[in-house]
Amino acid sequence: MNSARRAAAAPTGCRHCGIEQRGHGIQAASDGSHIWTPPTQQQIKNRMLARRAERTQRGDS
Ligand SMILES: [Zn+2]
Repeated sequence: MNSARRAAAAPTGCRHCGIEQRGHGIQAASDGSHIWTPPTQQQIKNRMLARRAERTQRGDS
């Protein structure tokens, strides 16, 4: 089943949780709290592709 309706993370969102730097603050994670950390180039790329895929799906029907 694929019922996840959560929007793809922002390309520049936190490496750990995907929240954008603005509004991130200190987030609690499974391995403790963390501050915003820049995503890797690979993460940025993957997120941009995910967003594009979402947009394509939505406009397809
Ligand atoms: Zn985070």
